[in-house]
Amino acid sequence: MILLDGKHTAETIRQEMKQQIDALLREGRRAPKLGIVLVGHNPASETYVNNKMRACEQVGIEAVKIAYEDSVSEQELIDKVQELNDDASVDGFIVQLPLPSHIDESRITSAIDWRKDVDGLTPQNIGRTALGMPSLVSATPRGIRELLSRYGITTAGKHVVVIGRSNIVGKPMAMLLMQRPYLSLPNMSASALGDATVTVCHSKTQDLKKICLTADIIIVAAGCPKLLTADMVREGTTVIDVGINRVDGKLVGDVDFAAVAPKAAYISPVPGGVGPMTIVSLLQNTLQAYNEHTR
Ligand code: NAP
Repeated sequence: MILLDGKHTAETIRQEMKQQIDALLREGRRAPKLGIVLVGHNPASETYVNNKMRACEQVGIEAVKIAYEDSVSEQELIDKVQELNDDASVDGFIVQLPLPSHIDESRITSAIDWRKDVDGLTPQNIGRTALGMPSLVSATPRGIRELLSRYGITTAGKHVVVIGRSNIVGKPMAMLLMQRPYLSLPNMSASALGDATVTVCHSKTQDLKKICLTADIIIVAAGCPKLLTADMVREGTTVIDVGINRVDGKLVGDVDFAAVAPKAAYISPVPGGVGPMTIVSLLQNTLQAYNEHTR
């Protein structure tokens, strides 16, 4: 079994990005700039935002936090989104989710200019990803693609089972996996992903175990601790665990790691697997947006 070490891989990518950004600065160009809109004081959101700000600092991306109280109106947020859309000094920005219940998240994300949508959540980016056109891909699927690529794991001709059909993980992941490689997106190693036979499962799927036992690669993004157990995995399967769950104060994924790991060819841990790759993908998307924006 080989551990897919997202923490180490993300660190390697950050070092590579720092070199690229240092080179830009030496050429007299400005640093890339990311805006982060945070509403309220959700502790998890505050932690994510702090981690993103710190990661930006490490690579030389200028990160600016725009904080609002929970009481902010939907219109105030839309106005801020428009302002960031129009601000030529900002290459990309995100609105940290979830938002308070009086705000319609889809209205906010849909208002973001897709060229600055470094979370890859706008209908334009999701549609462009589906069509294989250049786009900003949702950070978690982009991070998983990069992790597989860095470990030399290809998907062509393989059966990949994706558990979860969310708009931010399951759906875009399936789209990337089934793409023809020649339609791969910029700044990506084209050989790594695509050409897979993809099965997407969800809570209404019948006999998940039977389907998983036919998989070469299983990507679990359900938010259910120990959803994937050893009897659902055949020897030599690659297992990617996206889940983040807190059980008895401990962070765990969706995979029964101790039991599944001995059967897996490759497996990503939680923590230290997909999580760090998601943050680094946000940085890569910001640099991609900067390159498009300043060329
Ligand atoms: P989500 O919106 O929470 O939806 C979960 C998906 O899993 C749904 O499609 C649901 O099916 C499916 N599901 C739930 N229970 C299932 C079961 N017993 N069998 C089969 N499918 C089941 O998904 P998400 O936002 O993608 O998040 C999924 C997990 O990944 C969460 O733990 C989240 O915290 C984590 N996450 C981690 C990262 C990271 O960077 N590591 C990033 C994003 C999310 P239905 O559609 O039928 O309800």
